[in-house]
Amino acid sequence: DSVFAHVVRAPEDPILGVTVAYNKDPSPNKLNLGVGAYRTEEGKPLVLNVVRRAEQMLVNDQSRVKEYLPIVGLADFNKLSAKLIFGADSPAIQENRVTTVQCLSGTGSLRVGAEFLARHYHERTIYIPVPTWGNHPKVFTLAGLTVKTYRYYNPATRGLDFEGLLEDLSAAPSRAIVLLHACAHNPTGVDPTLEQWEQIRKLMRSKAMLPFFDSAYQGFASGSLDGDAQSVRMFVADGGECLAAQSYAKNMGLYGERVGALSIEQIEIPVVSVVVGVKERRNSFKDILVLFVRVPRLMYFCHDSQVCKSADVSAKVESQLKLVIRPMYSNPPIHGASIVATILKDSNMYHEWTVELKAMADRIISMRQQLFNALQAKGTPGDWSHIIKQIGMFTFTGLNAEQVAFMTKEYHIYMTSDGRISMAGLSSRTVPHLVDAIHAAVT
Ligand code: PMP
Repeated sequence: DSVFAHVVRAPEDPILGVTVAYNKDPSPNKLNLGVGAYRTEEGKPLVLNVVRRAEQMLVNDQSRVKEYLPIVGLADFNKLSAKLIFGADSPAIQENRVTTVQCLSGTGSLRVGAEFLARHYHERTIYIPVPTWGNHPKVFTLAGLTVKTYRYYNPATRGLDFEGLLEDLSAAPSRAIVLLHACAHNPTGVDPTLEQWEQIRKLMRSKAMLPFFDSAYQGFASGSLDGDAQSVRMFVADGGECLAAQSYAKNMGLYGERVGALSIEQIEIPVVSVVVGVKERRNSFKDILVLFVRVPRLMYFCHDSQVCKSADVSAKVESQLKLVIRPMYSNPPIHGASIVATILKDSNMYHEWTVELKAMADRIISMRQQLFNALQAKGTPGDWSHIIKQIGMFTFTGLNAEQVAFMTKEYHIYMTSDGRISMAGLSSRTVPHLVDAIHAAVT
């Protein structure tokens, strides 16, 4: 007998398992609304033109080699990724308060961040929303954190349970880590408003909690990269610390390239010793540089400046991130990060990307409207307005597991059992089929 004969069969991944079942279904009408990957109106996967163009440039560049990247990944990619999420004019970046490492897409960034926290942060509990992306609890538990939850979604309103959220975070211990979806919450498609974000920020800062942002859909929710980063930027602007895990899977369509970044932003360190004779407010990097240029002797005081202290913390954090990464996968892959860096550093290509990204977001928004209109037209019982209120890739339909099973069996429509459907997998052609199925499921 095999030495592995005793191994018990593990259950299929609840999300990826949907595709496994879909692939086995011979029906010509089958529809996969399970996995969060963008599809065109024709139901085909999409490679962005700007990505093709970047790849072509990379292939044509004979000087490019396939050497290992450093443990922390491609330097340009890291700098540009931090700018993308924190903002091009972010003081945190200018003041050397951000450490960024290239990781294996969003998942890898979350895992590296969590392992770093488990080793170096004093409060090892992370609070995650209910519900959340199914992989979160597993990633954080395996990294060595204790996972607890906070209320997020109210099934009755199909909207945010804001009071529940505030209550649970208020009751959580000070300094706990809190996982926040930067935008386009998965699976609910429900995000706090900016005013609500501001209240969350105040509460968390008053309790010295550590925000860990999961940003898997920047640009996909509103069609605007800056608009979708507002939650993160509010937390960065207050000078407190935060972590951000970025994925380029959805917004650049680089799913299988596994390209993402983890940024750790450190606190502003108040200036202890003020530069002689000059009454400084909290020195920014620029202020200090200007002073240094004017009075070179001031260099001597560099050790006491905020910038140097921040850079010092930043370097220490990076050194420890390397110790997490090296034994895990040594260093990240080069191709996807090179594509991203090529696009982000060229203003024309960057612009082309934003246009293509907006087109994807707009198609999803239009699918919401079409689905909602079709349900109205058919007179399907129930209030379906949440379909157009929710944002991002998913709609949390409110269909229960039994109704989902019915739709899969009778209509060959595949989705996760929590009733989440990927709007990106829908097209004008398939809306009527989905509406027939929903109608039959609820009547
Ligand atoms: N976080 C959330 C909320 C997600 O929905 C996803 C993708 N489904 C990820 C992280 C990670 O995706 P990836 O590792 O492919 O970037």
